[in-house]
Amino acid sequence: MRPPEADTVLVRHADVGVKSGKVQAEMERRLRDNLEAIVEDRGVDATVERRWSRLFVHADPESVDAATDAATDTFGVRSASPALVVPAEADAIVSALGRTAREHRGAVGDTFAVDARRAGTTDAHPFTSKDLENEAGAAVFEALDDPEVDLDDPDAVFYVECREDEAYVFTEKRPGPGGLPLGTQAPVVALVSGGIDSPVAAWELMKRGSPIVPVYLELGDYGGADHEARAMETVRRLREYAPNFELAIRKVPAGDVMDLLAEEVGPARMLVYRQFMYRVAEHVAREVNAAGIVTGEAIGQKSSQTTRNLGATSQATALPIHRPLLTMDKSEITERARRIGTYRDSTIPAGCNRIAPDYPETNATLEIVENARPAGLFERAREAAEDATVVEV
Ligand code: ATP
Ligand code: MG
Repeated sequence: MRPPEADTVLVRHADVGVKSGKVQAEMERRLRDNLEAIVEDRGVDATVERRWSRLFVHADPESVDAATDAATDTFGVRSASPALVVPAEADAIVSALGRTAREHRGAVGDTFAVDARRAGTTDAHPFTSKDLENEAGAAVFEALDDPEVDLDDPDAVFYVECREDEAYVFTEKRPGPGGLPLGTQAPVVALVSGGIDSPVAAWELMKRGSPIVPVYLELGDYGGADHEARAMETVRRLREYAPNFELAIRKVPAGDVMDLLAEEVGPARMLVYRQFMYRVAEHVAREVNAAGIVTGEAIGQKSSQTTRNLGATSQATALPIHRPLLTMDKSEITERARRIGTYRDSTIPAGCNRIAPDYPETNATLEIVENARPAGLFERAREAAEDATVVEV
Protein backbone atom coordinates (compact mmCIF):
# COMPACT_ATOMS: atom_id res chain seq x y z
CA MET A 1 0.00 0.00 0.00
CA ARG A 2 1.44 3.36 -1.00
CA PRO A 3 0.14 6.80 -1.90
CA PRO A 4 -1.12 7.15 -5.47
CA GLU A 5 1.52 8.76 -7.70
CA ALA A 6 4.27 8.17 -5.10
CA ASP A 7 7.54 8.92 -6.87
CA THR A 8 10.11 9.21 -4.08
CA VAL A 9 11.61 6.70 -1.69
CA LEU A 10 12.63 7.87 1.77
CA VAL A 11 15.61 5.82 2.92
CA ARG A 12 16.54 5.65 6.60
CA HIS A 13 19.93 4.36 7.61
CA ALA A 14 20.66 2.03 10.48
CA ASP A 15 23.87 2.03 12.52
CA VAL A 16 25.34 4.80 10.36
CA GLY A 17 23.38 7.15 12.60
CA VAL A 18 25.38 6.32 15.71
CA LYS A 19 28.67 7.57 14.22
CA SER A 20 30.41 10.89 14.74
CA GLY A 21 29.92 13.66 12.12
CA LYS A 22 32.83 12.97 9.78
CA VAL A 23 32.53 9.20 9.88
CA GLN A 24 28.81 9.48 9.37
CA ALA A 25 29.19 11.68 6.29
CA GLU A 26 31.65 9.19 4.80
CA MET A 27 29.34 6.29 5.51
CA GLU A 28 26.41 8.12 3.99
CA ARG A 29 28.34 8.71 0.79
CA ARG A 30 29.25 5.03 0.69
CA LEU A 31 25.62 4.10 1.27
CA ARG A 32 24.56 6.37 -1.58
CA ASP A 33 27.12 4.84 -3.96
CA ASN A 34 26.07 1.31 -3.04
CA LEU A 35 22.37 2.05 -3.45
CA GLU A 36 23.04 3.75 -6.78
CA ALA A 37 24.91 0.65 -7.94
CA ILE A 38 22.04 -1.67 -6.99
CA VAL A 39 19.49 0.59 -8.68
CA GLU A 40 21.59 0.59 -11.84
CA ASP A 41 22.33 -3.13 -11.73
CA ARG A 42 18.61 -3.86 -11.64
CA GLY A 43 17.86 -1.47 -14.44
CA VAL A 44 15.58 0.65 -12.26
CA ASP A 45 15.06 4.10 -13.72
CA ALA A 46 15.81 6.22 -10.64
CA THR A 47 18.30 8.65 -9.16
CA VAL A 48 19.65 8.79 -5.63
CA GLU A 49 20.04 12.03 -3.73
CA ARG A 50 21.67 12.60 -0.35
CA ARG A 51 20.03 15.38 1.60
CA TRP A 52 20.18 16.09 5.34
CA SER A 53 21.18 12.71 6.74
CA ARG A 54 18.79 10.89 4.48
CA LEU A 55 18.82 9.36 1.08
CA PHE A 56 16.01 10.01 -1.34
CA VAL A 57 15.43 7.93 -4.43
CA HIS A 58 13.53 9.71 -7.17
CA ALA A 59 11.69 7.46 -9.59
CA ASP A 60 8.63 7.34 -11.80
CA PRO A 61 5.51 6.07 -10.04
CA GLU A 62 5.87 2.86 -12.13
CA SER A 63 9.39 2.24 -10.80
CA VAL A 64 8.91 3.34 -7.23
CA ASP A 65 8.28 -0.19 -5.96
CA ALA A 66 11.41 -1.54 -7.58
CA ALA A 67 13.35 1.44 -6.25
CA THR A 68 12.05 0.71 -2.74
CA ASP A 69 13.12 -2.94 -3.06
CA ALA A 70 16.59 -1.83 -4.16
CA ALA A 71 16.83 0.30 -1.01
CA THR A 72 15.70 -2.50 1.28
CA ASP A 73 18.37 -4.76 -0.22
CA THR A 74 21.13 -2.25 0.53
CA PHE A 75 23.26 -2.95 3.61
CA GLY A 76 23.03 -0.10 6.10
CA VAL A 77 19.39 0.68 5.34
CA ARG A 78 16.99 0.40 8.26
CA SER A 79 13.80 1.03 6.32
CA ALA A 80 12.45 2.61 3.16
CA SER A 81 9.09 4.18 2.33
CA PRO A 82 7.60 4.93 -1.07
CA ALA A 83 6.26 8.46 -0.60
CA LEU A 84 4.32 11.21 -2.24
CA VAL A 85 5.97 14.64 -2.03
CA VAL A 86 3.66 17.60 -1.49
CA PRO A 87 4.22 21.25 -0.45
CA ALA A 88 4.57 21.71 3.31
CA GLU A 89 1.09 23.18 3.61
CA ALA A 90 -1.73 21.80 5.70
CA ASP A 91 -4.25 21.68 2.83
CA ALA A 92 -1.93 19.81 0.51
CA ILE A 93 -0.93 17.31 3.18
CA VAL A 94 -4.46 16.65 4.38
CA SER A 95 -5.77 16.18 0.86
CA ALA A 96 -2.89 13.81 -0.03
CA LEU A 97 -3.64 11.65 3.00
CA GLY A 98 -7.34 11.68 2.17
CA ARG A 99 -6.63 10.58 -1.42
CA THR A 100 -4.33 7.84 -0.20
CA ALA A 101 -6.97 6.51 2.17
CA ARG A 102 -9.63 6.59 -0.54
CA GLU A 103 -7.40 4.73 -2.99
CA HIS A 104 -6.85 1.90 -0.51
CA ARG A 105 -10.29 1.92 1.04
CA GLY A 106 -10.84 -1.85 0.79
CA ALA A 107 -7.33 -2.78 1.96
CA VAL A 108 -6.92 -0.67 5.07
CA GLY A 109 -8.61 -2.88 7.68
CA ASP A 110 -10.81 -1.60 10.47
CA THR A 111 -8.54 0.68 12.43
CA PHE A 112 -6.07 3.40 11.54
CA ALA A 113 -3.82 6.11 12.95
CA VAL A 114 -2.17 9.22 11.57
CA ASP A 115 1.44 9.80 12.55
CA ALA A 116 2.64 13.33 11.77
CA ARG A 117 6.08 14.71 12.46
CA ARG A 118 7.87 17.92 11.67
CA ALA A 119 11.62 18.10 11.20
CA GLY A 120 13.98 21.06 10.87
CA THR A 121 13.01 24.50 12.18
CA THR A 122 9.81 24.24 14.19
CA ASP A 123 8.55 27.76 13.49
CA ALA A 124 8.52 27.17 9.73
CA HIS A 125 4.87 26.16 9.72
CA PRO A 126 1.70 27.77 11.05
CA PHE A 127 0.53 24.37 12.32
CA THR A 128 1.75 21.81 14.86
CA SER A 129 2.08 18.06 14.36
CA LYS A 130 -1.01 17.63 16.50
CA ASP A 131 -2.97 19.98 14.21
CA LEU A 132 -1.93 17.89 11.25
CA GLU A 133 -2.88 14.66 12.95
CA ASN A 134 -6.31 16.01 13.79
CA GLU A 135 -7.07 17.45 10.37
CA ALA A 136 -5.60 14.57 8.42
CA GLY A 137 -7.28 12.12 10.77
CA ALA A 138 -10.64 13.65 9.91
CA ALA A 139 -9.91 13.43 6.16
CA VAL A 140 -8.85 9.79 6.41
CA PHE A 141 -11.86 8.98 8.57
CA GLU A 142 -14.13 10.38 5.92
CA ALA A 143 -12.40 8.49 3.13
CA LEU A 144 -12.75 5.06 4.73
CA ASP A 145 -15.81 2.91 5.38
CA ASP A 146 -16.75 3.22 8.99
CA PRO A 147 -13.22 3.10 10.42
CA GLU A 148 -12.01 3.39 13.99
CA VAL A 149 -8.98 5.24 15.27
CA ASP A 150 -6.53 3.05 17.17
CA LEU A 151 -3.28 4.67 18.18
CA ASP A 152 -1.80 1.60 19.87
CA ASP A 153 -2.17 -1.16 17.32
CA PRO A 154 -3.76 0.20 14.13
CA ASP A 155 -4.25 -1.90 10.98
CA ALA A 156 -2.95 1.00 8.91
CA VAL A 157 -0.81 4.04 9.66
CA PHE A 158 -0.86 7.17 7.53
CA TYR A 159 2.42 8.96 7.98
CA VAL A 160 3.41 12.47 7.17
CA GLU A 161 6.84 13.90 7.66
CA CYS A 162 6.99 17.64 7.21
CA ARG A 163 10.20 19.46 6.35
CA GLU A 164 10.55 23.19 5.84
CA ASP A 165 9.29 23.34 2.27
CA GLU A 166 8.18 19.79 1.46
CA ALA A 167 6.20 17.10 3.17
CA TYR A 168 6.30 13.34 2.58
CA VAL A 169 3.19 11.25 2.80
CA PHE A 170 3.58 7.48 3.10
CA THR A 171 1.90 4.42 4.52
CA GLU A 172 4.61 1.85 4.95
CA LYS A 173 8.10 1.45 6.29
CA ARG A 174 9.57 -1.59 4.57
CA PRO A 175 12.41 -3.04 6.64
CA GLY A 176 15.92 -3.16 5.15
CA PRO A 177 18.76 -5.40 6.27
CA GLY A 178 20.14 -2.83 8.74
CA GLY A 179 23.87 -2.90 9.48
CA LEU A 180 26.53 -0.73 7.84
CA PRO A 181 27.25 0.18 4.22
CA LEU A 182 29.30 -2.44 2.43
CA GLY A 183 32.92 -1.34 2.13
CA THR A 184 33.11 0.47 5.46
CA GLN A 185 34.97 -2.44 7.08
CA ALA A 186 38.02 -4.39 5.96
CA PRO A 187 37.32 -7.44 3.79
CA VAL A 188 37.16 -11.00 5.11
CA VAL A 189 37.74 -14.34 3.45
CA ALA A 190 34.45 -16.24 3.27
CA LEU A 191 34.68 -20.03 3.26
CA VAL A 192 31.75 -21.02 1.06
CA SER A 193 30.81 -24.66 0.64
CA GLY A 194 27.64 -24.43 -1.37
CA GLY A 195 25.69 -25.57 1.68
CA ILE A 196 22.88 -23.59 3.29
CA ASP A 197 24.93 -22.06 6.08
CA SER A 198 28.00 -20.51 4.54
CA PRO A 199 26.29 -18.02 2.18
CA VAL A 200 24.15 -16.80 5.08
CA ALA A 201 27.26 -16.32 7.21
CA ALA A 202 28.98 -14.40 4.40
CA TRP A 203 25.88 -12.22 3.97
CA GLU A 204 25.93 -11.38 7.69
CA LEU A 205 29.50 -10.07 7.44
CA MET A 206 28.55 -8.07 4.36
CA LYS A 207 25.70 -6.62 6.36
CA ARG A 208 28.22 -5.28 8.88
CA GLY A 209 30.21 -3.61 6.10
CA SER A 210 32.86 -6.20 5.15
CA PRO A 211 33.30 -7.10 1.50
CA ILE A 212 33.94 -10.83 1.15
CA VAL A 213 36.55 -12.81 -0.73
CA PRO A 214 34.86 -16.19 -1.32
CA VAL A 215 37.02 -19.30 -1.14
CA TYR A 216 35.80 -22.73 -2.20
CA LEU A 217 37.80 -25.89 -1.56
CA GLU A 218 37.48 -28.37 -4.36
CA LEU A 219 37.31 -31.71 -2.60
CA GLY A 220 37.83 -34.13 -5.50
CA ASP A 221 35.85 -37.34 -4.97
CA TYR A 222 34.43 -35.84 -1.79
CA GLY A 223 32.98 -32.80 -3.46
CA GLY A 224 32.16 -32.80 -7.13
CA ALA A 225 30.80 -30.63 -9.89
CA ASP A 226 27.39 -30.17 -8.28
CA HIS A 227 28.91 -28.95 -5.04
CA GLU A 228 30.95 -26.46 -6.93
CA ALA A 229 27.94 -25.30 -8.93
CA ARG A 230 26.07 -24.66 -5.70
CA ALA A 231 28.91 -22.60 -4.31
CA MET A 232 29.09 -20.58 -7.53
CA GLU A 233 25.36 -19.97 -7.65
CA THR A 234 25.13 -18.82 -4.05
CA VAL A 235 28.01 -16.37 -4.59
CA ARG A 236 26.23 -15.10 -7.69
CA ARG A 237 23.23 -14.39 -5.46
CA LEU A 238 25.37 -12.53 -2.97
CA ARG A 239 26.70 -10.45 -5.80
CA GLU A 240 23.24 -8.95 -6.28
CA TYR A 241 23.75 -7.21 -2.95
CA ALA A 242 27.14 -5.88 -4.02
CA PRO A 243 27.22 -5.15 -7.76
CA ASN A 244 29.86 -2.44 -7.32
CA PHE A 245 32.29 -4.80 -5.56
CA GLU A 246 34.55 -7.33 -7.16
CA LEU A 247 33.29 -10.75 -6.13
CA ALA A 248 35.33 -13.46 -7.78
CA ILE A 249 35.46 -16.88 -6.15
CA ARG A 250 38.79 -18.57 -5.43
CA LYS A 251 38.76 -22.28 -6.19
CA VAL A 252 41.38 -24.11 -4.20
CA PRO A 253 42.38 -27.67 -5.21
CA ALA A 254 42.08 -29.93 -2.16
CA GLY A 255 41.15 -33.36 -3.60
CA ASP A 256 44.60 -34.88 -2.96
CA VAL A 257 44.60 -33.70 0.60
CA MET A 258 41.15 -35.20 1.12
CA ASP A 259 42.39 -38.56 -0.18
CA LEU A 260 45.33 -38.35 2.18
CA LEU A 261 43.12 -37.55 5.17
CA ALA A 262 40.71 -40.36 4.31
CA GLU A 263 43.62 -42.80 4.24
CA GLU A 264 45.67 -41.64 7.15
CA VAL A 265 43.48 -39.94 9.73
CA GLY A 266 40.88 -41.61 11.95
CA PRO A 267 38.45 -40.00 14.43
CA ALA A 268 40.09 -36.55 14.22
CA ARG A 269 39.87 -36.46 10.41
CA MET A 270 37.32 -33.67 10.18
CA LEU A 271 39.24 -31.60 12.67
CA VAL A 272 42.45 -31.91 10.72
CA TYR A 273 40.48 -30.98 7.64
CA ARG A 274 39.10 -27.89 9.42
CA GLN A 275 42.62 -26.83 10.34
CA PHE A 276 43.76 -27.28 6.77
CA MET A 277 40.82 -25.17 5.59
CA TYR A 278 41.56 -22.34 8.01
CA ARG A 279 45.17 -22.36 6.91
CA VAL A 280 44.18 -22.07 3.25
CA ALA A 281 41.89 -19.17 4.18
CA GLU A 282 44.69 -17.52 6.10
CA HIS A 283 47.01 -17.60 3.09
CA VAL A 284 44.35 -16.10 0.85
CA ALA A 285 43.65 -13.47 3.52
CA ARG A 286 47.30 -12.42 3.52
CA GLU A 287 47.32 -12.18 -0.23
CA VAL A 288 44.22 -9.96 -0.43
CA ASN A 289 44.83 -8.09 2.83
CA ALA A 290 41.68 -9.45 4.50
CA ALA A 291 41.16 -8.98 8.23
CA GLY A 292 39.63 -12.33 9.11
CA ILE A 293 37.74 -15.43 8.05
CA VAL A 294 33.99 -16.10 8.09
CA THR A 295 32.43 -19.57 8.22
CA GLY A 296 28.93 -20.97 8.55
CA GLU A 297 29.73 -22.98 11.67
CA ALA A 298 27.23 -23.20 14.53
CA ILE A 299 27.77 -24.78 17.92
CA GLY A 300 27.01 -28.48 17.83
CA GLN A 301 25.59 -28.52 14.30
CA LYS A 302 28.11 -31.19 13.34
CA SER A 303 30.58 -33.14 15.41
CA SER A 304 33.39 -30.90 14.17
CA GLN A 305 31.50 -27.95 15.61
CA THR A 306 31.26 -28.86 19.29
CA THR A 307 32.54 -26.06 21.51
CA ARG A 308 35.64 -28.10 22.28
CA ASN A 309 36.35 -28.99 18.68
CA LEU A 310 35.90 -25.39 17.56
CA GLY A 311 38.42 -24.47 20.24
CA ALA A 312 40.95 -27.07 19.15
CA THR A 313 40.70 -26.35 15.42
CA SER A 314 40.64 -22.54 15.64
CA GLN A 315 44.19 -22.54 16.92
CA ALA A 316 45.47 -23.37 13.45
CA THR A 317 45.28 -19.69 12.52
CA ALA A 318 46.06 -16.43 14.24
CA LEU A 319 43.36 -14.66 12.24
CA PRO A 320 39.95 -14.15 13.85
CA ILE A 321 37.37 -16.65 12.63
CA HIS A 322 33.97 -14.97 12.52
CA ARG A 323 30.99 -17.27 13.01
CA PRO A 324 27.85 -15.16 12.80
CA LEU A 325 25.61 -18.27 12.89
CA LEU A 326 27.27 -19.58 16.03
CA THR A 327 24.14 -19.74 18.18
CA MET A 328 21.50 -20.19 15.50
CA ASP A 329 19.36 -23.28 14.92
CA LYS A 330 19.31 -24.83 11.47
CA SER A 331 15.69 -23.77 11.04
CA GLU A 332 16.59 -20.14 11.74
CA ILE A 333 19.48 -20.30 9.29
CA THR A 334 17.26 -21.88 6.65
CA GLU A 335 14.65 -19.20 7.13
CA ARG A 336 17.27 -16.51 6.66
CA ALA A 337 18.68 -18.26 3.58
CA ARG A 338 15.23 -18.16 2.04
CA ARG A 339 14.82 -14.51 2.88
CA ILE A 340 18.14 -13.44 1.34
CA GLY A 341 17.64 -15.67 -1.69
CA THR A 342 20.47 -18.21 -1.34
CA TYR A 343 18.37 -21.15 -0.18
CA ARG A 344 17.32 -22.61 -3.51
CA ASP A 345 20.82 -22.83 -4.93
CA SER A 346 22.14 -24.36 -1.70
CA THR A 347 19.87 -27.35 -2.08
CA ILE A 348 20.61 -28.44 -5.65
CA PRO A 349 21.20 -32.19 -5.09
CA ALA A 350 24.91 -33.00 -4.91
CA GLY A 351 26.04 -36.60 -4.81
CA CYS A 352 29.52 -37.27 -3.46
CA ASN A 353 31.44 -39.53 -1.12
CA ARG A 354 31.35 -39.00 2.58
CA ILE A 355 34.56 -37.81 4.15
CA ALA A 356 33.41 -37.93 7.78
CA PRO A 357 34.72 -40.94 9.76
CA ASP A 358 32.18 -43.31 11.34
CA TYR A 359 33.12 -42.44 14.90
CA PRO A 360 34.23 -38.81 14.89
CA GLU A 361 36.06 -37.17 17.76
CA THR A 362 33.76 -34.75 19.60
CA ASN A 363 35.95 -33.68 22.50
CA ALA A 364 39.29 -32.84 20.92
CA THR A 365 42.25 -31.00 22.34
CA LEU A 366 44.83 -29.19 20.28
CA GLU A 367 47.21 -32.02 21.08
CA ILE A 368 44.86 -34.66 19.66
CA VAL A 369 44.48 -32.74 16.41
CA GLU A 370 48.20 -32.05 16.13
CA ASN A 371 49.07 -35.68 16.66
CA ALA A 372 46.59 -36.72 14.00
CA ARG A 373 47.82 -34.20 11.45
CA PRO A 374 49.93 -35.68 8.63
CA ALA A 375 53.40 -34.16 8.39
CA GLY A 376 53.63 -31.21 6.02
CA LEU A 377 49.89 -30.58 5.87
CA PHE A 378 50.18 -26.85 6.52
CA GLU A 379 52.80 -26.63 3.81
CA ARG A 380 50.26 -28.20 1.47
CA ALA A 381 47.70 -25.62 2.58
CA ARG A 382 50.05 -22.89 1.41
CA GLU A 383 50.64 -24.63 -1.92
CA ALA A 384 46.93 -25.20 -2.41
CA ALA A 385 46.20 -21.53 -1.76
CA GLU A 386 48.87 -20.57 -4.29
CA ASP A 387 47.31 -22.92 -6.85
CA ALA A 388 43.88 -21.32 -6.49
CA THR A 389 42.06 -20.30 -9.65
CA VAL A 390 40.07 -17.09 -9.59
CA VAL A 391 36.67 -17.53 -11.22
CA GLU A 392 34.44 -14.57 -12.04
CA VAL A 393 30.81 -15.27 -11.20
P1 ATP B 1 27.19 -25.14 5.08
O1 ATP B 1 27.69 -25.04 6.48
O2 ATP B 1 27.65 -24.05 4.19
O3 ATP B 1 25.73 -25.40 5.00
P2 ATP B 1 27.89 -27.72 5.34
O4 ATP B 1 27.02 -27.67 6.53
O5 ATP B 1 27.82 -28.84 4.37
O6 ATP B 1 27.75 -26.43 4.50
P3 ATP B 1 29.99 -27.90 7.18
O7 ATP B 1 30.61 -29.20 7.15
O8 ATP B 1 29.00 -27.56 8.23
O9 ATP B 1 29.40 -27.54 5.79
O10 ATP B 1 31.17 -26.87 7.18
C1 ATP B 1 31.23 -25.79 8.07
C2 ATP B 1 31.77 -24.56 7.36
O11 ATP B 1 33.02 -24.81 6.77
C3 ATP B 1 30.90 -24.12 6.22
O12 ATP B 1 29.84 -23.30 6.68
C4 ATP B 1 31.88 -23.33 5.38
O13 ATP B 1 32.11 -22.04 5.93
C5 ATP B 1 33.15 -24.15 5.54
N1 ATP B 1 33.29 -25.15 4.47
C6 ATP B 1 32.89 -26.43 4.46
N2 ATP B 1 33.21 -27.04 3.30
C7 ATP B 1 33.84 -26.14 2.53
C8 ATP B 1 34.42 -26.14 1.21
N3 ATP B 1 34.39 -27.21 0.43
N4 ATP B 1 34.98 -24.99 0.77
C9 ATP B 1 35.01 -23.88 1.53
N5 ATP B 1 34.48 -23.83 2.75
C10 ATP B 1 33.90 -24.92 3.28
MG1 MG C 1 26.91 -26.39 8.18
